[in-house]
Amino acid sequence: MGIGVCRAVRGGRVIVVGAGFSGLACALALHAADVDVLLVEARDRVGGRTLSRPLPDGGWLDLGAQWIGPTQDRMYALVAAYGLATFPSAAHGAPTLLLDGRRVTAPPAGLAGLLGTLDELAAGLDPAAPWRAAGAAEWDGTTLGGWLAATAPDPVTARYAGRLLAGGLLAVSPAEVSLLHLLFYLRSGGGADALLGMAGGAQQDRIVGGPAALAQRMADALPPARLRLDAPVDAVAQDRDGVRVRAGDETHRGDAVVVALAPALAGRIRYDPPLPALRDGLTQRMPMGAALKVHALYLEPFWRAAGRSGVATTDTGPLTETVDNSLPGLPGGVLTAFSYGAQARALRRLPDAARRSALRDALGALLGPAAADPENLIEYDWSADPWTRGCFGGVLTPGSWRDFGPELRAPVGRVHWAGTETATRWSGYLEGAVTAGERAAAEVLAALG
Ligand SMILES: Cc1cc2nc3c(=O)[nH]c(=O)nc-3n(C[C@H](O)[C@H](O)[C@H](O)COP(=O)(O)OP(=O)(O)OC[C@H]3O[C@@H](n4cnc5c(N)ncnc54)[C@H](O)[C@@H]3O)c2cc1C
Repeated sequence: MGIGVCRAVRGGRVIVVGAGFSGLACALALHAADVDVLLVEARDRVGGRTLSRPLPDGGWLDLGAQWIGPTQDRMYALVAAYGLATFPSAAHGAPTLLLDGRRVTAPPAGLAGLLGTLDELAAGLDPAAPWRAAGAAEWDGTTLGGWLAATAPDPVTARYAGRLLAGGLLAVSPAEVSLLHLLFYLRSGGGADALLGMAGGAQQDRIVGGPAALAQRMADALPPARLRLDAPVDAVAQDRDGVRVRAGDETHRGDAVVVALAPALAGRIRYDPPLPALRDGLTQRMPMGAALKVHALYLEPFWRAAGRSGVATTDTGPLTETVDNSLPGLPGGVLTAFSYGAQARALRRLPDAARRSALRDALGALLGPAAADPENLIEYDWSADPWTRGCFGGVLTPGSWRDFGPELRAPVGRVHWAGTETATRWSGYLEGAVTAGERAAAEVLAALG
């Protein structure tokens, strides 16, 4: 590949590629262990799938990740260690449910039973090796949509559960994900209640300034010479002497490299020697989800006066759910709405004006005419961003776990893998990103002796 002839050759015993939470946690753990580490990031900022946009009133919007919740212990520890604080997600009033076009006060009667069945199936599965579960082959060959159609008591329950689980958790359509992948995800996060819940669940708390502020503080804890921004890595070579990592016109040498990217992005780097077939196959079978997260800004959180929480869910229409994201102490109201999978892609195909009009209509259908008339709508397209290419994370395609799952974390010589997709606890979340980065750091330290 010719990277040995590039202009500058710089030192650095371990190169970490990608300064999202996983790469940051990995680099900090290596730095703390007195390893000479270099963190190389494509963008001009750290934080990866976290991004804050300041608002004129002193508040901010989290365009990417925003929540943490109980049992995400490393995230709470980092928030405290870097001098930040959390605050509870807004919780005022009753949720709104629109099922089959009608306003109802309770979720479909069969939903709790379905979630209970899924939790029971997930409990018997090892999140480090889901393919070993007794039912793994059958579950991996069954899409969540197919399983719900056969198991749910009625089509509305199947549709609603599919949108909450495939959409709300993985940002895909129920036909795009296997039952096994969902079970892995449920097991990894501690069950349906933990994953879906606000208070007591993964959506319990937010971070003052947003997770992006935490990522910046983590980066600031590294000596400046240990971090390269604006440095997209396009080639990684390894031989018996070490690794060479090419980013632009610089080549960094080290003893090992940690690639802290989602597999779909890790597969876009050129490796020399080429990756083993199964590892490359993994990168071809773990596409990113498709979530559209849009913030609707209002002069005030008008829904609270009507006793509504701003949390709305539905089995129809382009939006699956909304939450109240207004910040405490500020007058403005913020409703954050999510669309997933096929619905998100359909919205993205529309011209800007048509999409924004469809979003306003969908907000109005959920929360009344005032919701259809925001002061502003703020979107960010993670699928179009070349350094993310979709969110929330990578999702293995149906039928892929047995052959390709074992490749998620298995090092290839001097190349190690991090990123939230490689986590066994809270995979897909910030917590999983951090623990995966720390796991990879420990792995490299052991390998370096
Ligand atoms: C809209 C949205 C909402 C979400 N909500 C939540 C939430 O509320 N709570 C939660 O816990 N999680 C949430 N997530 C998921 C969470 O953001 C991710 O799990 C986490 O940020 C992943 O971190 P990572 O370090 O593994 O990957 P990333 O954050 O993707 O980091 C990878 C880094 O590598 C860089 N990079 C890519 N290619 C290259 C290359 N070739 N060379 C060099 N650098 C490269 C990227 O720029 C990026 O900085 C959300 C994500 C999104 C997008």
